Order: sequence, then C-alpha cells, then structure tokens
Amino acid sequence: MKSMTVHHIEEISAIVKTGRILTNESDRFSYSFDASFGTYLPDVVIQTKNVEELAELVKFANREKVPVYPRGQATCLSGGPLPVKGGMVFDLSIMDDVLEINEEDLIAIVSPGVLTSDIHKAAEQKGLMYPPDPSSSHVSTIGGNLAENSGGPRGLKYGVTKDYVIGLEIITPQGEIIQTGGRTVKNVTGYDLTKLIVGSEGTLGIITKAILRLIPKPPASETVMAIFDSLVDAGRAISKILSSGILPSKMELMDQASIVAVENYEPSGLPKDADAMILIELDGHPAAVRDEAEQVSQVCKEVGVREVRVPQTKAEKEDVWKARKLVSPAIVRIKPTKISEDATVPRSKIPEMCRRLQEIKKKYNLHLVVFGHAGDGNLHPNIIADKSDKEEMLRVEKAVAEIFEAAIALGGTLSGEHGIGTMKAPFMEMELGAAGLNMMKSIKQALDPNNIMNPGKIFPEPGQKLVLSK
Ligand SMILES: Cc1cc2nc3c(=O)[nH]c(=O)nc-3n(C[C@H](O)[C@H](O)[C@H](O)COP(=O)(O)OP(=O)(O)OC[C@H]3O[C@@H](n4cnc5c(N)ncnc54)[C@H](O)[C@@H]3O)c2cc1C
Repeated sequence: MKSMTVHHIEEISAIVKTGRILTNESDRFSYSFDASFGTYLPDVVIQTKNVEELAELVKFANREKVPVYPRGQATCLSGGPLPVKGGMVFDLSIMDDVLEINEEDLIAIVSPGVLTSDIHKAAEQKGLMYPPDPSSSHVSTIGGNLAENSGGPRGLKYGVTKDYVIGLEIITPQGEIIQTGGRTVKNVTGYDLTKLIVGSEGTLGIITKAILRLIPKPPASETVMAIFDSLVDAGRAISKILSSGILPSKMELMDQASIVAVENYEPSGLPKDADAMILIELDGHPAAVRDEAEQVSQVCKEVGVREVRVPQTKAEKEDVWKARKLVSPAIVRIKPTKISEDATVPRSKIPEMCRRLQEIKKKYNLHLVVFGHAGDGNLHPNIIADKSDKEEMLRVEKAVAEIFEAAIALGGTLSGEHGIGTMKAPFMEMELGAAGLNMMKSIKQALDPNNIMNPGKIFPEPGQKLVLSK
C-alpha cells in the first residue's frame, strides 16, 4: 500500500465536485476511531452523496493502490471502519436521502446512511415491520448493519439483517456500479451476490443502496420478566422455553452485575440481589400472546424461578425493555474501558457457556458482565476494565482468548453479530481451520486483487495477536 501524496489529493479534488474533502488533522482525527479499540489516522476523508464520484474515487484507489475505508456511524465493536493502513475514509453516514416504503411490494428502499431506527419508524407508520433491531439502531446506519450483518433481540424469532435484504447497489473494488438481487422476494438468478456482500464488513464493495423486505407488524405483544437466584438456572429456563413449542420474539438475559449497574444508573426497582433476570417478549395475536405468557411463566416456575413479573401497561413494558437498553451505558460507570464480545453458542449450550464464563471471570479476577440475546445463544460477555492498567489488560487479553475457545469448543462461533474486524482476526483460523480461511481469502483475492477495500480486516496478518495492553 502506498501512502498518499499531494498529487493524490489533487486527483481526488478533481473527482469530488459535489462534496467535501477533509485533510485537516483535527477533522481526520474524528474518523480515527470506532466503538472498539485503537486509533488510526486516515490520510483523507471524503464526504459526498454522489455515487458516480465515489465510484471514480474507487477506480483511482484501485489504480494507485490506495486503501478505501467505508464508514457509517462508527459504532462498530470489532474495529471494522478503522483506517488501519491510512488512505481514504468514505463517510457514508451523509448518504441518507432515500427512505421509501412500498406497501404493495412490502419493501423499503434505503440509502446507506439512513439510521436503522428511522426505517423502523417509517415501516411502522404503514403497519409494517423491519425486524432487525440492533440495540444501536438509533445511532447506527443501515449501511453499517448490512456490512456487519447485524442482529438484535428480535433475531430470535425473525433472524438477522441478511434475512431481510433482497437487493443492493454496490460499488465494486474496481469502481463499477452494479445491482444485485432486486425487488422480488424470490430470485435465484446466478450466484447470490447480495448475501455475499452482506456481512463482508466493507471488504468486498461499498453499499450505496439497499432493498429491504418488510413484514406485517404483529398486532400485540406481552412481556415477561423472570428473576432467578442462579445464572445457570436462568440458562436452563432459556433452553426449556425454547423447547416448549413457543418462539418468543425476544429473550434477553441480564446477570447480577448488569442488574446492579442498571439499578445504580437509573433506579427502577430491579432486584439487585438476584443472580440473573430473563426478559421475554411474545408477539402475535392478542389471545395467543396472553396464553404464551402464562406458559412461559409456568416453565420458569418448573426450573425454580424466584419471581415472575408480567407488566400490564405499555409504560410498564417499556420500562422493562429500557432496563435492558441501559446495560451498555450503565456498565461503563464501573470502569472506563468496555471490551464487548459476542461469542455465540448453540442454544442447548447456553447453561454450559454461562458456567464457563463464571469460571473465566474468577480465574482472571475481572469485572465480567453477561447480558445479551440469550435466546439465540448470542450472549454478550463484556469485560469492564481500565486500559491504563496494563497488568489488568493482560488478564483481559487472556480472558478474551478463553471466551472464544470456550464458545468454539461448545460448537459456537467467534461472533454472532459484531463482526471480526481487527479484534477477532487473530482467532479466525481457530474457528474456520486453515482451508476454510483460505477459501474466504480466495474470494477476497478474486474480487479485490489489489486489496484496497478495507484492508487489515477479517484476515489475520502473519503472527497477529490480540493486543489490548499497549
Ligand atoms: C451501544 C452499542 C450497542 C450495539 N448493539 C448491537 C446489537 O444489538 N447488534 C449488533 O449487531 N451490533 C450492535 N452494535 C454494533 C454496531 O452498532 C453495529 O455493528 C452497526 O451495524 C454498525 O453500524 P455503523 O453505521 O456504526 O457502521 P460502522 O461502525 O461505521 O461500520 C461498520 C462496518 O461496516 C462497514 N461499512 C459501513 N458502511 C458501509 C457501506 N455503506 N458499504 C460497505 N461497508 C460499509 C465499515 O467499513 C465497517 O467494516 C452495538 C454497538 C454499540 C456501540
């Protein structure tokens, strides 16, 4: 990779006629970090809504072998948008002008910079639903969600971003503008490039438009809060509910550390002495969800729940879900550095994973908080530490590696939704094996032979290790 020259900046200025080119260090610094670790200064930041200009810039980058880093709102938890090799950052959060809902075709057409929560609101106004609901939906872009294949609490019943994308417009690493898929729900014409791009973390192209599938909004929902004296019992309740013939729309876990953190942050009567809490949402026909809420309460009683609460009013239900949303901001009050993992295990292994996480927490004497989308095995073990404490960060590095090893040993995966980025690249071979990883590398090499699209992500550099202690 070349570092950029004055001549390069002149070429870029000749291409970008409608947007802005940021070269001041203070401007570039704002694009040097995301919600994970590390700071990397890009050489230049481009803000333009013009797809043709972006495509020309990619052609220039491909010719001059300059790295291109697509970026949404930088809420990534795995280092995805970090410009680790300098070059150009494309600020796609400004491309937010298209948000069309088509009720007849049950689709939404969106620009990449549209916030996901704005898609939720627009669909709901027409009695429809865009199911993927990452907890960051009010601050993250649909472009970032597509690139990361993001999921959320509703993933349990409705799946993740890839399940709702039927078409894309992308700029290829050669700077061509192409369409994949289309407006039809069924489409088997050739390779499924749409699904290849979704989840590719900006390494195979830049998404400049998306066609999303919508579904009718369920007419009713019920919430159940189940409080447990043992985290492992909560894990057992999750497995039992899922095998009882009921499919909740959400099933979220909060361990004692997250309950205490939220209650200290914004008191709402959460049981600070409980070891764990599960929050369950059932959606569908009003009579069916009432009946299912009773069944869920019964299953929890069978595994020794301490207390079951069923909020009655809309406001009470919202309070329950607000508690879950507050976990992330609340836990960083304990210590300033949050290492947010999303290792995921098969549902039947949730109790065993909970047990292993408790062991890791004890072994390394760390603030390990467990919460997340437990219903689909996507626990979020978060380690709360202080990055200025080098000795503690060394223990964090070891604990993170053991969390990944535990998840994989239980038949799980490194990441259920946050992606690989820089943070999990060193562990890729552990999950995929050398041959599996090589197949992915071959796809990257075939589509982006000059490695200009988001270089330094997903694939480990030789000898790369997770380093958080520097
Ligand atoms: C408090 C908090 C809660 C979160 N909760 C969840 C959750 O519940 N579920 C979940 O899945 N994630 C969650 N995340 C992670 C994060 O919000 C998601 O990964 C989100 O999709 C990132 O969107 P973004 O706009 O911030 O993208 P960025 O962080 O800017 O970029 C993410 C990746 O997408 C690429 N990219 C961005 N735009 C494009 C584009 N148009 N074309 C090609 N590539 C592009 C970037 O290169 C990068 O690799 C959470 C993060 C935070 C901080």
